[in-house]
Parts: sequence; structure tokens; C-alpha cells
Amino acid sequence: MSAETIERVETFIVSIPRDVPYLGALRAGESANERGYFVRKGNRTVYPRTDTSVLVKVTTKSGAVGWGETYGIVAPRAVAEIIDDLLGPLLIGRDPRDPVVLHEDQYDLMRVRGFFGGYYVDALAGVDIAVWDLAARLAGMPLVRLLGGMRHERIPAYVSGLPKPTLAERVALAQEWVAKGFDAVKFAAAVADDGEIAEMAALRAGLGAAPKIMVDLHWRYTALEAIKLIDRLNLHDLYFAEAACQPEDIDGQAHVAAAVRCSVALGEEWRTAFEYRPRFIRRCMDIIQPEMGHTGVTEFMKIGRMAETFHCRIIPHASIGIGVFQAASLHAAAALQNVPYHEYQHSIFDKNLRYVTGDMRCERGFFHLPGGVGHGVAPTDDVWKHVVKH
Ligand code: MG
Repeated sequence: MSAETIERVETFIVSIPRDVPYLGALRAGESANERGYFVRKGNRTVYPRTDTSVLVKVTTKSGAVGWGETYGIVAPRAVAEIIDDLLGPLLIGRDPRDPVVLHEDQYDLMRVRGFFGGYYVDALAGVDIAVWDLAARLAGMPLVRLLGGMRHERIPAYVSGLPKPTLAERVALAQEWVAKGFDAVKFAAAVADDGEIAEMAALRAGLGAAPKIMVDLHWRYTALEAIKLIDRLNLHDLYFAEAACQPEDIDGQAHVAAAVRCSVALGEEWRTAFEYRPRFIRRCMDIIQPEMGHTGVTEFMKIGRMAETFHCRIIPHASIGIGVFQAASLHAAAALQNVPYHEYQHSIFDKNLRYVTGDMRCERGFFHLPGGVGHGVAPTDDVWKHVVKH
């Protein structure tokens, strides 16, 4: 057996405080409970008061280390336990230079029991990112090259979310980002207190004709409601409408995509190519938004290649994390064609950059991949004081 076999798999739950909650200050009637969770009335979704995440460390016999990260937004111990009890021990002795093989084997462990989504696949994603990082480090190359090659050396970033309490302040914030060299801004329906149409009109008036404006509709509408709304938003030149209908409504998604005259974007909540497949076939969207923290590298690449065969664009999603799955997402996106943008969660990314090593950054409208081997980042010493015992 080669010396490069996996000897140890460890998980770390991280909870980093933030001043302003994700998506902006809490609205009337919204407050955090004793677990630190609050529900946004605008999209009926639960969020943590801190930036919570689960890190995965995979170490080989010879001491080489790969880092992964996955969703720990709520109940992070569920993901950590799946890795600690099940996935990690079964990886001991395996060769990390076979990342796709390991991922397929781990996916198969629970598929007949119906675990092909949710926390189980989030756990797979965290492990998969760590194994790919390790494989690229052992090969002595950046992850992007192991994934097929450097298609993009930098990736345009769109500014996601305008976490300010009033519409006037949100317009001013969007103007600040455009002045800093960014040409695309997305607003969030869940916190558009004056309604999406007023938000869109004010942003277009404030930004002028050139910048792209997108909306995240947060799964709030029926298909027919969404079509009417998107048509009105598009009077102000909407670049894309995201997540119009509820995630289960494939018919509704297809209906919206066929009816409106601008792009529709979907996919942040799906984890595998199996979830994307029926939507590709039904032409439910022309932009997909794979989330590395849910998919891992193996599925992300499978989904991304599949998108190319359906002539869809890929604009990866970015979520709450310390930057490890963000780095993996940039490497995967850099290897794919048809990637006009990557989401830039500025209120998370910039604040948390101090928790990862390397030179990953987002400046003047572009993400720059972290240099070096693997995905190019690892936790800094600052992380350890935010690790929660489990
Ligand atoms: Mg979204």
C-alpha cells in the first residue's frame, strides 16, 4: 500500500460572531432565540446569528493535509456526526488521489436508504473538498489544473445583497460598489421592505443604465405571480430572476422560464446532478447556481459539465463559510466555460478572509483565485478561538 493513504479525518464546528445579521438588521418581529437562530419573515427561512460552518481536515499517513468545509448554518453537529461516525472511519486507508472514486463510494453507502440530499450530502461535500485539496497538494498543482485546466484566471464577481435598513441606504451601498469597479448587483426580496418593484426602480434610477441588476425572489411566488412580477421588474432591465417558485415546483419553474423575457437562475439548494437533471431537461432555467458547500467538487464539476451540454450559464452561489468552500468554488468555476460571474457575499467574504491563509481576494469587480497548490487556503490560527466543542 502506498504511503499516501488517509490516516485521520477530523471535523471542527466554527461559529464566528457578526455585527449585522446576514441579509441585514432584523426587522420588526424578528429576533434570535436561545440557540442563536432567527427566522426571516420575508422568506420564512431560519438563519444563524453568527457565521457558522463545519471544517473537515483529512490527514495522510505521511502528514499531508487537505481542508474541506460544508454547511453548518443550523444544527452543525448533524453534519459533523455523519462525518465523525460514518464517512471518516470508512476513508481510513484509502488513497486520496482517487477523489471521484472515494466520493462515489461514499454516496453509495446510503442511497438505498434514501439519503441522497440534505445533511448527508452536505457531509459528503465537506469531505470531498478536503480530499480534492489533498489530491491536488500531493500532485503539486493548483486544484483548477486537476479539474481540467485554467479557463479563467480571474472571475467577475457580482455583489450579492445590500444589507442596509432603508431603500435609500441600499441604493447608496449599490452605488458604492459600482464606484469600486463592480458592474452587477443583486437585491434580496426577503428584505426589500418597499416591495421588489420599488427596489428595482430605485436601484436602476440610482445606478443608471449600465450595471446589471438581479433579484433573488427567495421562492416566494407561484409561477403565475412570478411571471407577472418579473415582467414588471424587467421594465427596468433585469439581468436575472432567481428562485421565483418553491423548490419542489418543477412545473412552476419550467412555466416561469418559458414565459418571461429575461434569464432565470436556480440551483442553490440542490446538491447533486440527479436534482439538476430533470430541471435541465424541462428547461427550468438558463443560469444554474451550484453551491460548493452543498455539492463538493465532484458533483459541482459533474453539474457544471452537464450545464454546458444544456447551454446553461453557471453563476456559482456563495454562502456562509470561512472561505474554504469559497476557494474550492473559485477553482471549479475557473475550470468551466460559461461562467459569466461568481456570487460575492461581500458581508461574509471580506469579514472572514482573516480566517484563511493565502491570497484569495475580490477586488475591482473580480475574484482572484488563491495561488499555490490545492485550493490554496487553510484555516489561520484565528479560527481556533471560534471552534465550538462537539
Ligand atoms: Mg439565493
